Amino acid sequence: MPATLTAPHPAPVLSPVETVPVSELSNQERAVALYASDMPTRFRMRRDDEAMVHGWIIQGASRLGLQEVHRLAAAAYGYRLLWLADLATADQTRAHERRFPNARRFSKAETTATLFTVKTNVPMSQAAKDRRPQVEGSCPCRGTGWMADAVDPTDPVTAFMIACPVHNRHGLRPAPRPAVAA
Ligand SMILES: [Zn+2]
Repeated sequence: MPATLTAPHPAPVLSPVETVPVSELSNQERAVALYASDMPTRFRMRRDDEAMVHGWIIQGASRLGLQEVHRLAAAAYGYRLLWLADLATADQTRAHERRFPNARRFSKAETTATLFTVKTNVPMSQAAKDRRPQVEGSCPCRGTGWMADAVDPTDPVTAFMIACPVHNRHGLRPAPRPAVAA
């Protein structure tokens, strides 16, 4: 495989005949599969390339195994949400770079997966759409769904809570009770 995906634990043993239907993969999972496939990093998707991209997605997913595709995609999705909100920690960025050491290839895989999803009629199962992002290590919200965003978080005038983009994307979880100063 042209790029190596490093995993903190041993990769699952794959049966060579294991195939993953593309309809069971989310867009991020399709991107992870493309990253692990024979797709050239310089590839540019054109009209009539859909069948080739479809084959690469199956190839990459079969190499990784479904469990690993889910794990890598959930972590990549969680990282992307934190990164977009400018909340990713240095540790999380390093973990992302270990998972996908070739940033250019990962970007190409994401673009190609999106083009494939938009341009083809390959369906996406509800289960694939519903799979959740994950944050490795501790999320800045510590699982509460809310985090302080302020110049000085202890200053009641400037401190306010923002919804975690991973654990509370729609801001619907009840806000934690503010700490009462003694
Ligand atoms: Zn969170």
